[in-house]
Order: sequence, then structure tokens, then C-alpha cells
Amino acid sequence: MTQNDQNPFGLTPDQQQLLDQVDRFSKAELYPLAPRMDAEEWWPDHIFPRIGEMGMFGATIPEEFGGTNMDLLSSGLTLQAMGRWNHALALSWVAHDNLCANNIYRNGTEAQRRKYLPGLCSGKLVGALGLTEPGAGSDALGSMRTTARRDGDHYVLNGQKLYITNGPVADVLLVYAKTDKEAGAHGISAFIVEKGMPGFRVAQKLVKMGYRGSPTGELVFEDCRVPAENLVGGENRGVAVVMSGLDLERAMITPLCLGVAERALDLSVEFAKTRKQFGKPIGTFQMVQSHLAEMYTAVEAMRAYTYRVLAEAGPMEQGGGGRGYIHMLTASAVMFVADQLHRVLDLAVQVHGGAGYIWESEINRLFRSTKLLEIGAGTTEVRKMIIAGELLRGMGRD
Ligand SMILES: Cc1cc2nc3c(=O)[nH]c(=O)nc-3n(C[C@H](O)[C@H](O)[C@H](O)COP(=O)(O)OP(=O)(O)OC[C@H]3O[C@@H](n4cnc5c(N)ncnc54)[C@H](O)[C@@H]3O)c2cc1C
Repeated sequence: MTQNDQNPFGLTPDQQQLLDQVDRFSKAELYPLAPRMDAEEWWPDHIFPRIGEMGMFGATIPEEFGGTNMDLLSSGLTLQAMGRWNHALALSWVAHDNLCANNIYRNGTEAQRRKYLPGLCSGKLVGALGLTEPGAGSDALGSMRTTARRDGDHYVLNGQKLYITNGPVADVLLVYAKTDKEAGAHGISAFIVEKGMPGFRVAQKLVKMGYRGSPTGELVFEDCRVPAENLVGGENRGVAVVMSGLDLERAMITPLCLGVAERALDLSVEFAKTRKQFGKPIGTFQMVQSHLAEMYTAVEAMRAYTYRVLAEAGPMEQGGGGRGYIHMLTASAVMFVADQLHRVLDLAVQVHGGAGYIWESEINRLFRSTKLLEIGAGTTEVRKMIIAGELLRGMGRD
């Protein structure tokens, strides 16, 4: 009997096999990199080509562009397994594969797909997405200051982007800028910027409390000339690209949270069995058992919502999302899952006692990852605004 026979909400045998394969690879090759990535904010240059060689990029992209043509849930399983063993690389994977490559696939022209996707899917090129700015975070669209002006067969970009995952190491960046300053959110366009384009530079790499091996940067565009053929989705059509991309990003963050939570639970069970106090393993004490039971229940609830949102967001049509049921569901799923992760990691450190408070310990590295997933891709408050907004517009149960 397979897991799927026992549990209709579980994974199919193929999906379970994918999860196990990526888990084995991640444990063998990504996990040993994690301590140095965290300690030194080190980016291992060799690892993206290696992940590409393993066929772990382009899960939602057809084979003709270098992808593996699976679905969003399979893509999420890859991320879940990576998240267990090296969550910093898993975050960089999301920015590269989902925010950049999948977005170019969904919204790009045939020529853009042929030019950029094979390199992104092989891991030869590193991808990133630049939306947030120093003055434009939660109000990313309304407060955007970066501009793009048409000049012959180019657009000229001016402005700044902040907190951009992979920014310091990216070769290909999907960047949003205002092409019509008077049209508000409807005057935004998306562009593919390459690292070497004149006028583009990385102003700084930012030092973070968690996900330290995943490089985050501030980017500057000073009369940056981008060929007009690098416009993605049409002039002033960026809002559809952003909004559908954000829904997918929210869905895709959930398996990352799940992977980290699973690892935190495993570490805590192991610690409870081996750490002795009062002459006994601490796992024999009922209050420690209570922590483990609560963690397990949270992880299973996270798993159920994660797989559901991935399955439901997968078929989102091109340009879809950014409104209605799926907008509400993805916001709700990521809000719940990130909140549960916070709880699981808090309990995990409690189970570890002083050992969990030591910077170098694995559980501490995981603990320092909590806050980001309550902030990135729209904060918890923004997620609540989306959910309540859709409910009040009538997007209820039926
Ligand atoms: C490590 C890291 C990686 C990131 N990667 C990327 C990336 O790859 N690409 C990218 O474009 N961006 C990225 N971001 C940016 C991220 O999406 C933003 O940080 C996030 O959207 C919040 O914006 P902000 O930081 O400017 O906070 P602010 O918008 O200034 O919010 C500050 C606080 O005010 C609250 N708030 C704001 N408006 C309201 C309101 N109307 N009602 C109630 N509360 C409100 C917020 O919820 C928050 O609690 C990343 C951020 C981090 C930290």
C-alpha cells in the first residue's frame, strides 16, 4: 500500500520519489555547505550549475527551454527537500527559479524564452527579481520611483532596488519600472536586465540575521540602457506580471517553511532522546513531550495547507492571479504556514535549551530564518489585507 492509498491528501508515488531524490541530494551536497554559508555569508559559485545538472531548475518550464515540465506541486517538493538541508540555497532557488525563470516563461516572448531560459534552467545563469525599493515596500506599486524612458530601440532605467535576493550574484534580473508616471500601478513595466548592461551596478550586499548564505543586495540603475526587446509582457502591463507572480511566490514560499519546520522537528526529537537531565533523557519529561507534540501537529497542518495551495495555484492561467480566490488562498496559506514555522522554531529552541541559543548550532541557524517569511513577498499585515479585502468583496466559501 502506498502512502497515497492510505491518505488521499498525500503524495503520489512519483511525487514521493521526487521528494526523496532531492532530499538525498540536498543532504549529501547542500547540507555540508550550510555552516560556512551562514558563518561567512559565503556564496558557493559551483552550486547552481550542480543543482542544474541534477535537473532541479525549471520544474514548471517545458523541456524545449531546458526545464523538466512538471507542475507547481513538484516544484514545491524540490523546495521542501532543499529547505530541510540548506534553507539559504532554497531561498536563492525560489528567487531564481520561480520569481525570475518561471516569470519569464509565463510572460516573456518566444525570443526571450529562447535567450534566457536554457541558461537559467542549467544554473549557468543566476536569476533575480527586483520590485522593492527604499521607499516602496508594502506599497511596491504605488510608491515605485524607478523609471524607464523609451529612447529609440532602448529603454533607459533610473532608480534603485533594495533587498533583492541573489542581486549581488545575479546574471539576469527581472526588474519593474514606471513607464508612465501618471498612470499609477497601471504605468509599470517589466524588463530583463543583464548584469553587464551599462548603467547597472550592485551598490551593496546587505548583512542579514538569517538566510545569510543567500546574497541580498541593493541595486542601482543610472541611465541603464536596456534593449526594447527586453520588455516583458508589454508596456504598462507590468501590474499583471507582478500580481500573478506574487501569488505564485506566496504559494511557493510555503514548502520552504515546511522543509525548515520538518528539520527543526527532527532535530528536536533527536535532542530530546539524547540529552539527559535528572538522570534521564529530557524526552521523558511531559512538558518536553508537549512541545514535541505541538510541533508535530503544526508541521502536519503546514503540510496539508502547503500541498493544497500548490495544487490549486498550479493551474493559474497566464496573467491570472492578483485577484479573487487564488489571491486570497495564497495569501492565507503563506500567512498560516509562516506563522506556524515561527511557533515550531520557537519550541525547537526551547527544547534545545542553551544549545539552541548558540549561534553556530543548526537549530539556531534555523531559528534565525523565522522572521523573513513573515516579511518577504508581502508582510503578514499585507496578507491579512488581501484576505479580508477578498472576503469583503464576496470571495467567501462559495
Ligand atoms: C531578505 C529579504 C529578501 C528579499 N527579497 C526580495 C526580492 O528578491 N525581490 C524584491 O523585490 N523584494 C525582496 N524583499 C523585499 C520584501 O518583499 C519587503 O521587505 C516587504 O515587501 C516589506 O517591505 P518593507 O521592508 O519596505 O516594509 P514596509 O512596507 O516599510 O513595512 C513596515 C511595516 O509596516 C507594515 N505596513 C505597511 N503598510 C501597512 C498597511 N497599509 N497596513 C498595515 N501595516 C502596514 C508592514 O506590514 C510592516 O510591518 C526581500 C526582503 C528581505 C528582508
